[in-house]
Amino acid sequence: MEGDRSVFVFHDDRMLQHRPDSNTPFLKDRLDRRVRSILETLNVEWKYPEHPGRLSAIMDLLASSPVEGVSFQTGRAATREQLARVHATAYLDDIETYRGKQAWLDVDTTAVSAGSIEAAEVAAGTSIAAVEAVVAGAADHSFALVRPPGHHAESLRARGFCLFNNVAVAAAHAQAALDCPRVLIIDWDAHHGNGTQSIFWADPDVLLFDVHRAAPFYPGTGHMDEIGGGRGEGTTVNVPLTATAGDAAVLQAFRRILGPAAQWFQPDLILVSPGFDAHYSDLALNMSFDGFGALAGYVQGLADELCEGRLALILEGGYNTESLAGSVHRVLQVLAGGQVEEPSEAGQEDVEQAVAFHLSAFSEDF
Ligand SMILES: [Zn+2]
Repeated sequence: MEGDRSVFVFHDDRMLQHRPDSNTPFLKDRLDRRVRSILETLNVEWKYPEHPGRLSAIMDLLASSPVEGVSFQTGRAATREQLARVHATAYLDDIETYRGKQAWLDVDTTAVSAGSIEAAEVAAGTSIAAVEAVVAGAADHSFALVRPPGHHAESLRARGFCLFNNVAVAAAHAQAALDCPRVLIIDWDAHHGNGTQSIFWADPDVLLFDVHRAAPFYPGTGHMDEIGGGRGEGTTVNVPLTATAGDAAVLQAFRRILGPAAQWFQPDLILVSPGFDAHYSDLALNMSFDGFGALAGYVQGLADELCEGRLALILEGGYNTESLAGSVHRVLQVLAGGQVEEPSEAGQEDVEQAVAFHLSAFSEDF
């Protein structure tokens, strides 16, 4: 039952100081003109969707509806050495020049404000702290509530709201410093984790399993035949899904593809890039709260069976603050030992209730 397991939730207010402003001029004149012209064709004012209110909404819900077994921990900043395990030093040098400034880093939606570089360092370092907690056995599982998110960031490029690839930094740390050479990364964000894929493309000791809405949905990668290369051929597993796919499809992918892949891979540690933009309220896919709970329960079962329960989650997307907070809450309940509800087909329970209510009016049997 809920509270049977201990779960550390990592949070750090420094990550609230990443506040990109969509009115900040772009770096290069021609990019600025190009993006301004695109924005002007939209009828609504475009606001930066990856804002501090995402984390506040989660923390508010966890304060008003506490989950038994969860305790809160403060994060910390990643060092340059830790970041350099997955990011090129030229990129780290470049990022450093934006400290304290407002700017756009990439035409595809990535901007920074005065506190952004420190926030990104804390997001990556907090992801490392979450991994260290489960490897040391301080908690059964952990969940790092971080932003900016990470899974679109590549070795040399900020992309899609992401500056540093948090889950990749955490996985590389586990390999290099925590005696966990084999790391399974499960990415259930609605968008493909292109950055995580490219960073570990040729690494046979990181298995990436990624379910996402199929291209041409952003970022346009994640085709089924992208399976890794070189020594890493076979350790990238992509499951692209149609936009209407929801709980049943994603759970099938977990049970029928992830399960055998994880058994074959035999990880020392399982990391999850949970994105809750796959919730139906976020419009990218069609997952429900119970669906996310079931995914968490399935992954927890894998961790129990394969790597002594070592499981850390590192937040990616989710832009409807209500469904984001509710989804994180549901996942934490399951991680803490709460009941896993098998998700029903949308509307099925409503129909059952309606059948019970109406049927007597039309049947001689009652
Ligand atoms: Zn996403």
